[in-house]
Amino acid sequence: MVFSRVMRAVDLIVKKRNGGELDEDEIRFLVNGYVSGEIPDYQVSAWLMAVYFSGMSGAESGVLTRAMIESGSTFDLSSLPGPLIDKHSTGGVGDKVSLILAPVAAACGLQVPMMSGRALGHTGGTLDKLESINGYSTKMGNDRFCEVISACGYAMTGQSKEIVPADRLLYALRDVTGTVESVPLITASIMSKKFAEGAESLVFDVKTGSGAFMKSVEDSTRLAESLISTGKSLGRGVVAVITRMEQPLGYMVGNFLEVAESAWCLKPSLAPDGFRYPNDLMEVTLRLTGWMLVAGGLASSVDEAEEKCRSVIEDGTAYERFLQNVELQGGDPGELESQLTSRRAPCARTVAAPRDGYVEAIDAFSVGMIGVNLGVGRNTPEDEVLADVGVELSVKVGDEVDAGDPLCVVYSESDAGADEAAKTIRAAYTIGENPVDQMPVIVRELSSL
Ligand code: URA
Repeated sequence: MVFSRVMRAVDLIVKKRNGGELDEDEIRFLVNGYVSGEIPDYQVSAWLMAVYFSGMSGAESGVLTRAMIESGSTFDLSSLPGPLIDKHSTGGVGDKVSLILAPVAAACGLQVPMMSGRALGHTGGTLDKLESINGYSTKMGNDRFCEVISACGYAMTGQSKEIVPADRLLYALRDVTGTVESVPLITASIMSKKFAEGAESLVFDVKTGSGAFMKSVEDSTRLAESLISTGKSLGRGVVAVITRMEQPLGYMVGNFLEVAESAWCLKPSLAPDGFRYPNDLMEVTLRLTGWMLVAGGLASSVDEAEEKCRSVIEDGTAYERFLQNVELQGGDPGELESQLTSRRAPCARTVAAPRDGYVEAIDAFSVGMIGVNLGVGRNTPEDEVLADVGVELSVKVGDEVDAGDPLCVVYSESDAGADEAAKTIRAAYTIGENPVDQMPVIVRELSSL
């Protein structure tokens, strides 16, 4: 008599824990079982941890990505003429690039179907930032997604019960089980969303440094290579730009704070007195948008493309697209503009430099975690993020300070939260005696175009 063995999650966990390679049926069994509710969180958590330690082969990573894509439906963007190009970041602190890049790319003639994530670990989430705009909704079906893209050149959405449900569930579980920083899991999470949203080519911002999931350039390069090879196997052209994430990007860390900084970058004349133009943020944004134009055939070099991007910011068309998008996705542009400088959580504390010197480092990871505790991100999947809390940096690495000068302002919904954040954030700053050499923000570029 022949016994056929029933597949059991526990056997697959043990196999992976012992460094084995799971086959297609086994990976699909885990992914589909989790989405249908038949395999519980605790077993999937254990499998994720086993993957974290044992890794995955290229074949396993490809199957995981496909299984996640096939866990739901994909967008059909065939009604849009394109070029359909998107960008995705592996996650950082103060990373509001998507909010600026999408309207700039749209104003240059691209169509951008953007499916973004929520706050994860110490990093912020594009969807949480956008939803801090009153009324703004990132939930939409296929037809509305196409309508919004047709009307203003881009639309911003996220995973849902229908689109890549496996990523929605796994992403939230990884966030609370210490299993985010894994090349195959990040690759599958990002590529499944990117495939489902329907972009033809993809530009990745692969962060490296203390505020990134990949802390070293070597690990970030492994992630970039994994994204490129998985993209190729799915028939997508991919560019990966490795960018430095040692200090927060720009000056604002927080959901609405980052919306405000993005609006000011798109229209500097709106910015309040004392606005400091965030050079690092704009260098990364223009480089990534430049690559998108090259991928879409709208420019023959990244330098030429960056010029185009600058001109649509200068002539106001990028900002117009931004306001159009806000309106199309449920926000009120007039109300938004009126709140940019004033809408902040009520308990503010200014943190002063303890001595004279030069800012040597502002540890992005620590600032990100302080942000999470203030409510910018989540400690558990059920947590609600807060719109108006966060940190406004007054200085960046390289700046000279005198004792007593402001280093940053923290905004909290409670006095106790503001006091705690103001106390702990001091340790994120290193003030040295000597002038500091600025490290280039763009580290490496890899392309399969
Ligand atoms: N961004 C994603 O979409 N997924 C990850 O796993 C990490 C960053």
